Amino acid sequence: MASETTHDPLNRRSFLGAAAAAISAGAFAAPFAMAQSKTVISKGEQNHSASNPGPINKSIANQNPSSELPPEEDHGDVSPFWYSFDLSHRRVQDGGWTRQVTEKDLPISKDLAGVNMRLTAGSYRELHWHTANEWAFMLYGSARVTVLNPDGTIFIGDVAKGDLWYFPAGFPHSIQGLGPDGCEFLLVFDEGSFSEYQTFLLSDWLIHTPKEIIRKNMHLTDAQVAKLPDDEEYIFPGHIPGSLEDDKRAVGGSAVESKVSYTFRMEAMQPTETNSGGDARIVDASVFPASKNIASALVTLKPGAVRELHWHPQASEWQYYIQGSGRMTVFASAGKARTMTFNANDVGFIPAVAGHYIENTGTEDLIFLELFKSSYYADFSLNQWIRRLPPNMIQDHLHLDSTETKSIPAEKLVTIAK
Ligand code: MN
Ligand code: MN
Repeated sequence: MASETTHDPLNRRSFLGAAAAAISAGAFAAPFAMAQSKTVISKGEQNHSASNPGPINKSIANQNPSSELPPEEDHGDVSPFWYSFDLSHRRVQDGGWTRQVTEKDLPISKDLAGVNMRLTAGSYRELHWHTANEWAFMLYGSARVTVLNPDGTIFIGDVAKGDLWYFPAGFPHSIQGLGPDGCEFLLVFDEGSFSEYQTFLLSDWLIHTPKEIIRKNMHLTDAQVAKLPDDEEYIFPGHIPGSLEDDKRAVGGSAVESKVSYTFRMEAMQPTETNSGGDARIVDASVFPASKNIASALVTLKPGAVRELHWHPQASEWQYYIQGSGRMTVFASAGKARTMTFNANDVGFIPAVAGHYIENTGTEDLIFLELFKSSYYADFSLNQWIRRLPPNMIQDHLHLDSTETKSIPAEKLVTIAK
């Protein structure tokens, strides 16, 4: 179905609510989509078959029109590929909060997991390290980050909205909110089962090391050892630091400065692809060498525009929606396809090589991140594939003659305007 109102939840809701009356009045002739098989529900019963007279969670139903009344092309049993940080437990403590979407919440996502974190001005995410590589995108405010290299050199840098960082697995690091109001950011880890609550914390290690060993190892007195934290800190308030240059100087200046940069200005870079449908900024190890195992794209879609039909050959895709609303259909082969709705702060997932598109169904720009457990970004455009083939081959497959085939865009567009 292609009606303008197809994905307007309010229109569809009132449509459903009016269905019974409309049918009894004999005035209901629109091709209303069926939830499942065309062969089971006869045409004359379609509209009333989709009526929904029992209990309904209106907030959820209205937010998820693609599940509530799927396009008739959807078919088969496709695992859910949507979750929202707004359903996750928010661990709030003095200095900020954190919440996560991992394989426990979104079982289909085995390769990547995400964390959403807020630090107030001066507050820290405690010094720590972990098993997974960490990729991050700043959603709000600014922060200072540090990461130590095995050769003893240290990176200290400031990040603001639209910047990202990458910390290799096992490398110890810190994050601190800066003024005036700290920060909020998204973290992405290249392990689906990663848990933000299982990281290696400085305080935790010291608490669980014999005091005698700490005295010997750190050359501290008993009185000094007694000052060390007796509970894990994790997120806690601190003092807003001075200038970045002051911090760099205080640790030894250029003699100990990391040769590798672990931050990158993603939103500020020139778009990798741009056209009237929107744009995409692609960041992988080719432009940001530190990012060895996570590739990314920041995509903006204008209202009505489509992130074109495509797939990725080398990795599954984990998505985070920053702004707007849209829908995505994932084609899972063997007759299976499912459409789900996405709004700001939602997470999406696409299994490796599965075909998909994303459509902006809202009135503002749809902005989202695509993440891949890979050193490089790669995708196949359906349009480009078709146009690279001899026209006779397309005529035999799609029954379009060479003139008709030419209306299909010949190049990869990434985004396609309304
Ligand atoms: Mn970390
Ligand atoms: Mn994709």
